[in-house]
Order: sequence, then C-alpha cells, then structure tokens
Amino acid sequence: MPTHKHSNICRIVSNALSSIACLALSITVASASVTVDSEALLKEQIRIYCGSLIDGISNHPLGSHTITIKNGIIISISENLPESTVGLDLGDYTCLPGLINTHVHFDANPEDAADYGVYARRTQADNLALILKNASTTVRTGFTTVRHAGAWFPDTLAIAKAKIDGGHAIGPRIQSAGPYLTVPGGGGDLTFPEIPTDKIPTESQQGIASTPEEFAERAKKAIDNGADFLKVIASGAVFSTGTEPGAPEMHQDDIEAIVAVAKKRGVKVTAHVHSDQSGQDAILAGVNSLEHASLLYDETIALAVENNVALSMDVYNGTYTDTAGRELGYPEVFIQRNYDTTEAQRVVFEKAVAAGATLLYGTDAGVLPHDMGGWQFETMVERGMTPMQAIKSATSVAAEHMDLYNEVGALRVGLQADIIAVPGDPLADITSLRSVSLVIKHGVVIKDHTQPPSR
Ligand SMILES: [Zn+2]
Repeated sequence: MPTHKHSNICRIVSNALSSIACLALSITVASASVTVDSEALLKEQIRIYCGSLIDGISNHPLGSHTITIKNGIIISISENLPESTVGLDLGDYTCLPGLINTHVHFDANPEDAADYGVYARRTQADNLALILKNASTTVRTGFTTVRHAGAWFPDTLAIAKAKIDGGHAIGPRIQSAGPYLTVPGGGGDLTFPEIPTDKIPTESQQGIASTPEEFAERAKKAIDNGADFLKVIASGAVFSTGTEPGAPEMHQDDIEAIVAVAKKRGVKVTAHVHSDQSGQDAILAGVNSLEHASLLYDETIALAVENNVALSMDVYNGTYTDTAGRELGYPEVFIQRNYDTTEAQRVVFEKAVAAGATLLYGTDAGVLPHDMGGWQFETMVERGMTPMQAIKSATSVAAEHMDLYNEVGALRVGLQADIIAVPGDPLADITSLRSVSLVIKHGVVIKDHTQPPSR
C-alpha cells in the first residue's frame, strides 16, 4: 500500500501568540504513525475575535465577541475587543461550538457497499489506517466529537481512539458503542455473499447473540472492552443481505437484558430501528435513543417523546445513496430499500420535530462520505427545523444526550475549546456548514482556512 504523507501547518497570523496555536503534524497513513506537537499550545493563551457568535445554547446569535482560551479551555467570552491584539481575527466569520455527529462508522466507506468482500480482505493495519483517515477527515469538517454507533472492527477502533486521545493522531473525541449487538445473520452480522463463512473476521462477531442471557453477556464484555454506550440492531438494515429494514430482529426481552446491564454500568443504549414494531419494543425496553427511526407511526413518535427517548435520524444520506450509490454499483436491493426508507423517514422526521422530540444530529457517516458530515443540516431545515434548532441538535442537544454537557457542545466559559468558524451567517445559509473554515479542538488548531477580514 502506498504511503500518503500529509502535512498541515496552520496559517500563522499576525502576532506571536497565534503562532503558538499552529499545529505542525505529519501523518503517515499506511503505518498509522502520527506526531502531534501541541503541548506548547495547551499552556498558552489565545484570543479569537468572532464577528458573530452562535453559542449552541441561545436561540439567537450573540453578535461580535472575543473568546479567550487557555490550556485548551474557554476562560472568557467577552463582548469587547481585547485590549491586546487578538490571535485570530475572524471579523467576517461566525464562530460556533465544535459540531457533534451522533452516528458515524469510521471503519466503513460508502463504496464498500458495492463490494462487502472488502471487509474480509482488509488487514487490521488497513482497518486502522482507514479509521484514522476517516477520523481525521471528520474533525477537519468541523465535527470535534462523534458517537461511533457500532463497529465491525471494535478492537481496531479502540486502538485508533487511544491514539487520538493520546495526541498521536488527529480526530474527534469518540464515544464508542463497541461491536453491534445483533442476532445471527442480523443487520449487524457481517454475513454477505461476497464473504465466505470461514473468512468472516472474528473481530466483527463479538456482539452476536440469540437469547437475553447471551445478549447480557455480550453487553458486559463490550463495556469491559471500553464501550461508552451500547448499540442494538433491533430491526433489519438497509445495507445488509438477508435482512429487511421493516422487520424486527431482536425481541423486547433481548433489549431489556442489555438495558439492564447498561443501567448497572452507567452507560446508555441506542437502538437501530427502521420498523415501527422495533421502535416500540426498544422504547418499552428502556433504550435512551433510536437510530434511523424511519418507519415509526405517530403513536410511537409520541411514545418516544413521552419516554424522553432521543432520535438520531440520518435524513440526508438517502439522497447521496440514490445518486452516488447507483454510480458506485451498489446492489439494486440496497438502492430499492434506500428508496423505500428515505422519504418515509423524512416524513417521520417532520412529525418528530412537530411533536417536540429530542433530535440528535447523526448522518450515518460510512453510508455517507466522511467529508459530508455538514450536508444534513439543509435537509433538517427543509423538513421543519429552524436553522438554530438544527445547529443545536449538533451541539448542546447532542452533548447533553451524550452526558458531555459540561465538556463540549457550547461556547461557554469552562468548557473545552472546541470552536469552528464559517464565513458569513450560517442561519441565513445553513449550507455554509458543509465547509467550515476553522476547526479548533480542545484548544488545538486542527484547520485554519480563514482569511484576514477584508476591512
Ligand atoms: Zn449506522
């Protein structure tokens, strides 16, 4: 495999403080070795002047503000220009909190759906390189925190997460579900005709179970191995062989057994559901959120609201799959199932917004390319959210659900300095979030494509 070298040295702006903010790094993807020299930054103070501020909590933009960060933490947010020169002058930009995507899979790319045999051919080194590449892409699109909603290769993901957390690789902070908890041959089982049975990677099979007792065991093991939450595949999936999105796969008592373990260990459970029956089963079993939720009836949306069950609905990727999927050569059955669930899901989304459900921004990255994380905002706005509601679903609302409210998801004094910036006003043009100009994670400048103000 060829070695790809990237280097990213952020723009050095006009004073000494900001040069410290620049992060020099070199990544060798093939060997997955990364050097990050960011220690100096974390001890220094930097001021960022923002022409407008969306703090992730307020319902209105807050006008121009100066954010001061030190040791990776926001130490002040002031309406006044600082007395000394600012480190980053973003007078033409809106600053927002680092975004949160609550549904990603770094060990998968969209084009894999045209040939699932690739999962048997990739080595662990290949998978690690893929995960690190997708993590790097994701954070550079402004998503500084993700919920990794199930992995085919949970052990390799854990290695990647440790590298990122240790400062040896670039990526978002990751809450990981570990392996998919799924029935044999279910939506989370890597049984594809392209993969001979004896070639199915055993790493992918850690969450397969058939009874409540077995599921409880798998859940305990996943948490022991570092899962931050659990993901159950309650119904069939769009991108799988021999399963149907509308058909339940796990029983309510299977999910109850998992929820009981999760509660004891203080972690949350999310359920992949397309079918209404699975949605009901999962809510009644006590899960904290539903993924997709494509085919829920009105009563089940109401049940979710009543039980404070959040919905992470990937309402954009159907458009991508319908176009790119055909070009990439996805099997016709995937294209058809995607068609069957796309508009139906968007209608459910509209109803969920109207019903006041808690909606978490989640794109199902892996189905959607990892550099398209910001493309879903537009669909959410088209389907009933205000632009600010959509932004909050990817900031404070997601952070609260992930129990990270006191760490990220807002521009607030005391929180980690996860800051992004886009030119102009994202409330007037929500598509500006497709391509962010600045990304700072925990005080480290990951990307700076801002230009000095024109005035
Ligand atoms: Zn998914």
